[in-house]
Amino acid sequence: MVDVSFKKITKSGGITLPRQIRQELGMLPGVALEITPEADGSLRLCKHTPSCHLCGSAEDVTTHKGLTLCRECAAAFSREVD
Ligand SMILES: [Zn+2]
Repeated sequence: MVDVSFKKITKSGGITLPRQIRQELGMLPGVALEITPEADGSLRLCKHTPSCHLCGSAEDVTTHKGLTLCRECAAAFSREVD
């Protein structure tokens, strides 16, 4: 991994992630990140992965009209509609 590095927050609240970290973790321009404040005052950054609105599963999800569902929930949902 990379040594600790220091970045100042810009006037607009932005920070620049060190290139080496971006390259190692595949955090390419346009990738959505989840920012989670931790109890110890740190921030956790991870790539956002879409997850099912109903069960929270991140596997095999698709988004239709703004609703993200996994395959199982989508199947159950369409059965209820029929
Ligand atoms: Zn689901």
